[in-house]
Amino acid sequence: LIVPSWLQFCDIIKEIFDMCKEVRDGKVASYIPQLGRANPESWGVSICTVDGQRVHFGDTTKPFCVQSVSKAFNYAIAASDLGADFVHQYVGQEPSGRLFNEICLDLKNRPHNPMVNSGAIIVSSLIQNKLNLADRFEYILNAYRKISGGEYVGFNNAVFLSERLTADRNHALAYYMKEYNCFPKETTSLNDALDFYFQLCSLEATCESMSVMAATLANGGVCPLTEQRCIDSRPCRDVLSLMYSCGMYDYSGQFAFHVGLPAKSGVSGALIVVVPNLMGICLWSPPLDSLGNSCRGVAFCKELINRFNFHNYDSL
Ligand code: GLN
Repeated sequence: LIVPSWLQFCDIIKEIFDMCKEVRDGKVASYIPQLGRANPESWGVSICTVDGQRVHFGDTTKPFCVQSVSKAFNYAIAASDLGADFVHQYVGQEPSGRLFNEICLDLKNRPHNPMVNSGAIIVSSLIQNKLNLADRFEYILNAYRKISGGEYVGFNNAVFLSERLTADRNHALAYYMKEYNCFPKETTSLNDALDFYFQLCSLEATCESMSVMAATLANGGVCPLTEQRCIDSRPCRDVLSLMYSCGMYDYSGQFAFHVGLPAKSGVSGALIVVVPNLMGICLWSPPLDSLGNSCRGVAFCKELINRFNFHNYDSL
């Protein structure tokens, strides 16, 4: 067993879960009404190890939208299909040092990285872009289901419709990138490109299913429940590198310093954390700090590192 004293480990996770439940900071995202109505009390923690041991505390079977957490998986799927070198002709690997939805490109006129909106719009426009939108959506849904070992992956149409209605900035980003020829030649319509991006943000998961998705990343791209390869090993390494440097918005540098693990957060309050070769963790609590990360999620990660030597450089 990869975690030998599993019950002891679970007891400590339960303590950290209870401790973070007391955190009352932050505000639920309200740029669309569907997210604004999220229950600030929701709090779930799920862990899945690379050998399939599972533990869950709190609201781990309630669905939430994956939002920006999808950026990590979409990149991994695109790079597995097309190769990292091809994908990085269109998007860089550098933290932008700017807000996630800022209108800016790097010196080669590419989005800075796949974890900001501009980069994620380009990455999604690379995925199966010779197919029509219906087939592309089905392709992604199947890919997510495979990565989650067949556990819950859904779609929230209300969120999709309201993302689309509240999309001035993402349209501005798309037009700006069109001006600079950032899109692949297959992209004929910006509306389709953005619709696909909003659909990917509106996919749903639960803490349980998303902990398996994170565990697939921890396991080098092989789902620990099914032992199926879902992500090639090089893209798996690459997405973890990008999550480490860019996964937590403008807190990424501090998170790498204090926690030292690859992670990705989203405005729904979802947060995945990967302990390579060991486990995937999904945390979900809707209230966000000023930088857009789940307050309880970040508090959990800091305490996790106090209790265990999971920081990338703890082993030195
Ligand atoms: N869907 C939102 C957008 O594209 C926010 C994504 C996120 O989680 N930051 O602006």
